[in-house]
Amino acid sequence: MSNIKASIITIGDELLIGQTIDTNSAWIAQRLNELGIDVLRRVAVGDNRNDIIDALDAELASSSIVLITGGLGPTADDITKPLLNEYFGGTMRIHEPTKEHVRELFTKRNRPFLERNLKQAELPDNCIVLFNQMGTAPGMWFEKDNKVIISMPGVPFEMVSIMENEALDRIKERFITGSIIHRSVITAGEGESFIADKIQDLEEALPVYIKLAYLPGAGMVKLRLTAKGANKEKLITELDYWQNRFAERLSYIMVSLEDIPMEQIIGDWMKTHHATIGLAESCTGGNIAHHFTQVMGASTYFCGSIVCYQVPVKVNVLGVNEQTIDQYGSVSEQTATEMAKGALNVFHSNYSFAITGLLSLGGESDKKPVGTVWMAVANKDRVVTKEFHFHYDRLRNKEMATSMAMLMIWKFITNRI
Ligand code: AMP
Ligand code: MG
Repeated sequence: MSNIKASIITIGDELLIGQTIDTNSAWIAQRLNELGIDVLRRVAVGDNRNDIIDALDAELASSSIVLITGGLGPTADDITKPLLNEYFGGTMRIHEPTKEHVRELFTKRNRPFLERNLKQAELPDNCIVLFNQMGTAPGMWFEKDNKVIISMPGVPFEMVSIMENEALDRIKERFITGSIIHRSVITAGEGESFIADKIQDLEEALPVYIKLAYLPGAGMVKLRLTAKGANKEKLITELDYWQNRFAERLSYIMVSLEDIPMEQIIGDWMKTHHATIGLAESCTGGNIAHHFTQVMGASTYFCGSIVCYQVPVKVNVLGVNEQTIDQYGSVSEQTATEMAKGALNVFHSNYSFAITGLLSLGGESDKKPVGTVWMAVANKDRVVTKEFHFHYDRLRNKEMATSMAMLMIWKFITNRI
């Protein structure tokens, strides 16, 4: 199967001045990658006629699919639609289904329908209209010289909706002949080079049509196997076989065979074991609770979190001994331990987790290095503590601490620590 090449062009002055972060092309690139389509280039240009045309010329010269986002709004700065119409030699006409859809949206939202809004329904007559159920500007699918150009609005959830409901299936139908299948092995606690050494012989034994990718994240490495071929059933059988072999080899650090977030893995474990967990969060300010509550059905095992930022809360709500804090400081193994024990008491949960740390200057930063964090995880029989040092800015440190917290909870419940 030869590899199809794609380019992504994002349009908008706001992207060039850094006001809007281009999340669209990352999302699109991920979806194309899952289909086995190689993204050759990602280009950002302003709302400028010549720049857009130059980018189109350049990308069409080397890619079979060019995906464009942005510049489809009803205001004067949005010039993508008339420009594409001209570029592909079409005529602008009112597209009746779009007109009805736009009118309906305005009626539903109780907004007056302006002449300007009618412009959203004016579309080139030489494109396939990609319905936008989340907004007024539809996407457009053009074909030229055996190449496909897809134009979509810049608003991320509108782009996602058009891709998922209209564009991806058409891309598959048009370009993908065989099947592409993915399997994951999620590991935690070892670096990618160490893992690479451990599995070298397996990796070398993989058939040519199965590729292995290492995707390292905070404290975790995801291994992704991708198989391409014509016979889907055969691919699935083979891929399952290889996934099992990698999982067996890495069983001591294996977390999951599914690419799902750690909070969901912990949640699934809690449900299966009819267990509950409560938190005491100082430096993460509720961020760990936020992650836990992103998972549907978390209320069956997640009791809550006490955001105990100031000393009196640690003392009065969790029952941490004031002398412990005086003697060892808020950011200490002793305080973290008492916080975890306190959380077990408050929540009557099977497990608890506590975190206290110094994420940037201030607090106890004259006594301890910035980035020092103590964590404790407990059940009624034991407490495990660990010290961490994070070296980024405050926000990043908070995210890193949250990832490490999840990992520590998982290791504790599965008896790895
Ligand atoms: P537009 O279709 O150009 O009217 O874009 C509408 C809005 O979508 C912009 O104001 C941005 O906030 C957002 N947006 C545009 N392009 C992108 C992009 N590449 N990634 C994320 N958001 C975007
Ligand atoms: Mg724009």
